[in-house]
Amino acid sequence: MICGMKCAFCDNCVTLLKEACPNCGDGFKKRPIRPQSVLKKYPVSKKLVHKPIYIEAHINRIRNI
Ligand SMILES: [Zn+2]
Repeated sequence: MICGMKCAFCDNCVTLLKEACPNCGDGFKKRPIRPQSVLKKYPVSKKLVHKPIYIEAHINRIRNI
C-alpha cells in the first residue's frame, strides 16, 4: 500500500495503522504493479525496511486529523 506522499507499507501494517500514514497522515491506496517491461532495468528492491511505531501514540495522533 502507498500513501499520497509515496510512503509504502505492507497490508498488515496499514490495517494496524488504521489506514493512516504515520509519516504524513495521508490515507493509503493499493500500490501499482511495476510493468514487466521495466523490471530488468528497474528491479524491485529486496530490501525490507522496518520502522517501529508506537501504535498507541499513532492512534491518538490520527484521532485529531
Ligand atoms: Zn505518508
